[in-house]
Amino acid sequence: MGDALLQKTYTVDCLTKKRAANDGTVPQYYVNNDHEAIIPRELFARVQEEMKRRANIRQGMDGKRRVYSSKYALSSSVFCGHCGDMYRRTHWNNHGKKQIVWRCVTRLNAPGVECPARTLSEIQLQNLVLEAINKVPGGKQGAIKVLETNISEVLGNAHIEELEHIKQQIEKQQTLLVKMTAASEDYSKVVDKIYALQREQEEAMAANVNYKAGKEGIQEMIEYLKSQPKRVTAYNEQLVRKLIEKMTVYDDHLDFLFKSGIQIEIKG
Ligand SMILES: [Zn+2]
Repeated sequence: MGDALLQKTYTVDCLTKKRAANDGTVPQYYVNNDHEAIIPRELFARVQEEMKRRANIRQGMDGKRRVYSSKYALSSSVFCGHCGDMYRRTHWNNHGKKQIVWRCVTRLNAPGVECPARTLSEIQLQNLVLEAINKVPGGKQGAIKVLETNISEVLGNAHIEELEHIKQQIEKQQTLLVKMTAASEDYSKVVDKIYALQREQEEAMAANVNYKAGKEGIQEMIEYLKSQPKRVTAYNEQLVRKLIEKMTVYDDHLDFLFKSGIQIEIKG
């Protein structure tokens, strides 16, 4: 998504005559923005947001940035109680017995730097997660309540008003720009202002896309929980993503921090 792309798409379609009449870049730019491509812009904003999220993944003790994986809910939320690094999913071949385990990444990356953190089998870890979810005060009802709170918080952030406000400001500046161009005045400050407003607009749009996706996801999760028996008995990636912020593995217990702020300790 860029001005050049927008020019290709819209200038040719809508304003061939006007473009021929104007030889400066500014009128073209104005024209492009007037026919904004909402869908590509939103997609672009979504990608930007995802990149920002990945860039935020913490650095390990060895200074290396941990590669982000979105495949498993636990990929970026399990931490080592000994060294603070992340736990990573790996295949383990123990005397011919193959299994999937989660280990402190320090052990995986740097043989010799022995973090004494224990290894958990995936089944063991998932069972502990389920136990924690079921232990949240109010159980299933509590989880539903947390999700409903998430929805209303997200709803309060729809960015609709903000987007409308930015749009109006851009239109105002564009009108000014056209007048200044016609009067051969220096319009560079107005162009800067429009660019700044466009950046604001992109950010608000990214937030709005997240809002929509988030709201749908949470609603699905509430439906899922309502259809489940009293206790959540099956491990569910989406549920874990929605409910759990972080967990820390210690020698004899795990600490869970839920997105609701609730902290729970599970022995085992
Ligand atoms: Zn460790």
